[in-house]
Amino acid sequence: MSSIIFEAREIHYRYPHGMHAIRGISFHIRKGEKIALVGPNGAGKSTLMLMLNGMVRPDEGTLLFDNLPVSYDRASLRILRKRVGFVLQNPDRQIIAPTVYQDVAFGPTNLGYSGDEVRRVVKESLRYVGLEGFERRPPHQLSGGEKKRVAIAGVLAMDPDVLVFDEPTSGLDPSGSEDIIELLDELNLAGKTIIISTHDIELAYPWADRAILLVKGRILEEGIPEITFGNPENIRMASLSMPILLDLYLELGKRGFKLPERKPRTVLDALNLIDVAFQNLPCSRPGAITVHSVDRSNEECIMAWRREHPGGALGAMGTRAKQHAAEINIPLDFTYGVIDKCILKALLGEDSLIITTESMVGRVFERVREFGKENRREVPVSRS
Ligand code: ADP
Repeated sequence: MSSIIFEAREIHYRYPHGMHAIRGISFHIRKGEKIALVGPNGAGKSTLMLMLNGMVRPDEGTLLFDNLPVSYDRASLRILRKRVGFVLQNPDRQIIAPTVYQDVAFGPTNLGYSGDEVRRVVKESLRYVGLEGFERRPPHQLSGGEKKRVAIAGVLAMDPDVLVFDEPTSGLDPSGSEDIIELLDELNLAGKTIIISTHDIELAYPWADRAILLVKGRILEEGIPEITFGNPENIRMASLSMPILLDLYLELGKRGFKLPERKPRTVLDALNLIDVAFQNLPCSRPGAITVHSVDRSNEECIMAWRREHPGGALGAMGTRAKQHAAEINIPLDFTYGVIDKCILKALLGEDSLIITTESMVGRVFERVREFGKENRREVPVSRS
């Protein structure tokens, strides 16, 4: 198990002349985890997140980062803020410079990087978030989703180990939200610890490795999302509603269906559950999933695959893959939850192609094999 990056021991915080916002909280976060901090408005999520990069100092208890208590002198805070990047809920409050380039360059310039190095990290960060070519654009002319990406690029330019996002999808439309969640997954696969706050339980449930349920400045429950969100009483106290797939599982259980022990996190899991509950026979010959890396293969491979699989489904995973598909005019059937949707297709006996970046290819193989092992339904997967 990987080591602990953050640990809180009985921390408290009262706003000056105001609210006792954090009331004795203890938790730990491991390196590489995806953590969702969930709770209703006023639960203390933002306050707690501001503590993680030293913007708010607990007035009781201890917060440890990388096994050392956080120090609040200027030099220590500078190091902490380089290692823990914070993306505010409202990008208009985070973006300060008149052009995208200048904004993303702000952090690395302040850290004393050389001119060449600043140019390199700005280019890389903008590429990562899918905003190549936006360098000269004034941020106020961008869409909400694009502004969010500029803010993320600005934080990435400092190469932090941990990224903290306050309500990362607020104000975005569903497809913009999906893109941001996918970006968080890419960053996590690249080794970053990701901590988000949200009151969107449907978002947190399938995404998080662990979820922390916060109510009135206290932790009500903490654990894998099935545990955190699995207790109807806690959910009611937090004024939230149970994730729909978990609710479905509990309702089927109450009606006497014999269900697998593992609770469904995704539609694919739920479909499997229904198959088991109703003893459907799976399709005898599953379709195949082919993975195309935009970094390794050329577009002719995609065209060839389409010719050979006229009814096959196409999905793109990751910002650059989606951009590539748009550039070569490929209509996409799936742009979110792509691996699971392709497994669903395979279970219907249909073939699919996933276009993605080289760094995500391993994730596709891993997920398909994991599904095969858990459900004893092997789905063939190969590279194009
Ligand atoms: P959440 O992010 O879960 O909505 P917050 O951390 O913003 O919760 O707020 C927790 C509590 O602290 C709330 O009762 C809120 O009114 C109070 N609070 C937040 N910011 C301030 C502030 N700047 N001054 C005084 N009280 C505040």
